[in-house]
Amino acid sequence: MKILVLNAGSSSIKYSLFAMSDRRVLLSGILERIGEAMAVHRYRLRDDEPVSVEMRLTNHQQALQTLFSGLAASDTVGNGDLACIGHRVVHGGELFHQPALITSEVINQIAGMIPLAPLHNPANLLGIEESLRLMGNVPQVAVFDTAFHQSLPDYAYRYPLPASLYTDQGVRRYGFHGTSHGYVAKQAAEFLGQPLRELNLITLHLGNGASATAIEKGRSVDTSMGMTPLEGLMMGTRCGDIDPALHFYLSRNLGLPLEAIETLLNKDSGCKGVCGENDMRGIHALADAGDQSASLALSMYAYRIKKYIGAYFAVLGRVDAVVFTGGIGENDTRLRQQCCDGLSALGIVIDPRQNRAPAPPCAAIHADTSTVKILVIHTQEELEIAIQAETCLTALR
Ligand code: ADP
Repeated sequence: MKILVLNAGSSSIKYSLFAMSDRRVLLSGILERIGEAMAVHRYRLRDDEPVSVEMRLTNHQQALQTLFSGLAASDTVGNGDLACIGHRVVHGGELFHQPALITSEVINQIAGMIPLAPLHNPANLLGIEESLRLMGNVPQVAVFDTAFHQSLPDYAYRYPLPASLYTDQGVRRYGFHGTSHGYVAKQAAEFLGQPLRELNLITLHLGNGASATAIEKGRSVDTSMGMTPLEGLMMGTRCGDIDPALHFYLSRNLGLPLEAIETLLNKDSGCKGVCGENDMRGIHALADAGDQSASLALSMYAYRIKKYIGAYFAVLGRVDAVVFTGGIGENDTRLRQQCCDGLSALGIVIDPRQNRAPAPPCAAIHADTSTVKILVIHTQEELEIAIQAETCLTALR
């Protein structure tokens, strides 16, 4: 069985084609700068050298046309060989606890969630609608970033606001990165040789966006991102947790309009706001060269992660493992060390030697004295979308 996974953003479409028998990636790529003067298609066929081609792509329809004709011309999928297309959809609101076979009703429901995710759901929908037009004979499944967190109890997902904002407007914590948190939780269970339903985990997805999740007996019971992906940990360009009254201050004292505040908190804050750099490797380079603001950004970043580890320890009572994942979580030795420093009272003790040499896709980096295991696990969100799409299709047969 072959499954194509699509992640459609506003100006880019990422894709991966999987052979599900051995979960191999046959083809993966990204179509970027769609709608700009010159777009670029970067892709890699099996283990070949990556290829980059510049072309004009005025819209998502043309981009997907390019992808599907490329697929047909390659030897990766034969006629009728593509079992399914799995689409990443950011917001599934309270409607979707599971992946869903895409029908016109599901499309309408995803469209109904646009007010909750105005930056993401419209682009995800565009990818779905154009794929249906071009490949309508292939079953298509929507996999939601929010679905894994639908198990949160009400006292964790409700905000202390007037109840009508929840009942009438859907204002609550939804959480994101659910595909990644769910995937690494399953991998952790496999690595530890224990059933997931018996494990309590704190999973830390640290990439350009970042979030922490408390997992009790395999189910998400709290997560740091909220109604939007802005809440929670400090991120590359997003502020994470701040005083909500800051908005009034910015508006009253600086005269900033709402849109400017939204941009400031989403695109010009986080690490970028503190030290002018949002890429973690760049931040380390600056800090190593003596830049005090970069050192401060690193300290703030790790400190805020540590606070969530402490909070989720209290939520869970017993923690079997802390799991680091995402580009930073998987690669940043120093940051992992900084996050775990001083947590021995909680039984969290990192082994500096293991921490420096974790072996992907899954490695243990805790000291022998650590009662909590510390794992580094390579996340594979695209593969998890393919697996969930396959499970959804199988259940329908
Ligand atoms: P996204 O959230 O867009 O999927 P990634 O999960 O790939 O992003 O994470 C990107 C982040 O990972 C960047 O800040 C990048 O600097 C960081 N990163 C990647 N490799 C390393 C490394 N070796 N050391 C520190 N940070 C790294």
